[in-house]
Amino acid sequence: MVGTDGRTATSTGAGLRLMAVHAHPDDESSKGAASMARYVAEGHEVMVVTCTGGEAGSVLNPAMDRPEVHTNMTEVRREEMARAAKILGVHHRWLGFVDSGLPEGEPMPPLPEGCFAMVPLEESTEALVREIREFRPHVIVTYDENGGYPHPDHIRCHEVSMAAYDAAPDPERFPDAGEPWQPLKLYYSHGFSRAKLTAFHESLVARGLDSPYEEWLGRWDPDKADVMERVTTRVRCEDYFEVRDEALKAHATQIDPNSRWFAVPLDMQREVWPTEEYELVRSLVDSTLPEDDLFAGVREKVGT
Ligand SMILES: [Zn+2]
Repeated sequence: MVGTDGRTATSTGAGLRLMAVHAHPDDESSKGAASMARYVAEGHEVMVVTCTGGEAGSVLNPAMDRPEVHTNMTEVRREEMARAAKILGVHHRWLGFVDSGLPEGEPMPPLPEGCFAMVPLEESTEALVREIREFRPHVIVTYDENGGYPHPDHIRCHEVSMAAYDAAPDPERFPDAGEPWQPLKLYYSHGFSRAKLTAFHESLVARGLDSPYEEWLGRWDPDKADVMERVTTRVRCEDYFEVRDEALKAHATQIDPNSRWFAVPLDMQREVWPTEEYELVRSLVDSTLPEDDLFAGVREKVGT
């Protein structure tokens, strides 16, 4: 069946739609990228929405630290994002807001006027509602209330995603932003768990390899609960770790190929931690926890 918008629905369990909302270009490749690539390979449609242009990002790869890169940062990051989306096989939209930057210093400087974190929530929510009503995702993935990492754009990305999830199906909210659409599930993606870093660290040490995680793990407050305690859903995606790494490297200004992103050999990753982790926070379908599939219960509900 081909809908009026040209999207194809099939009867093979494929043809479902997943939307991942991210703060900056490169976040989609470092959080949940392998599971997105898996869902694309299985015939689903995945849309990445990036809230900001990443204009405030500094160049984190020495090989890219060149004047022409600095003067064209916005354009360079747009090209990087397009390459990453192509590698992952996902659709991509910019929400069009300006990177707030990560304020540093004592006292902390104010956020720049008009940046994503300062734009009224109604305004950014309407922009995301418009994307949701157009793409009509069955499942939305975003960050938890801490942003996964305490950048003002990541926290805002969480707030906007939650507000848009609730507003998208409501005909009284943003009537000019398209036909109401009810997503069925919403997840937080969880990348850096202590359990995962510990597993990688121990495997590296056991193989006699250098571990970049020792110091990181040492700084971890032992009394703080590990995010794994919140995880409801582990998606196997080890066959797509290479694709994930290629997408990461497409963000050449942000990702140093010699960095700790690539410290763990892929065969070890596949053996020690073949999944990506998610936390189910909203659901209108029946599924049994723990899950191994973001579409669990959705296939049954929409009858594909
Ligand atoms: Zn980010």
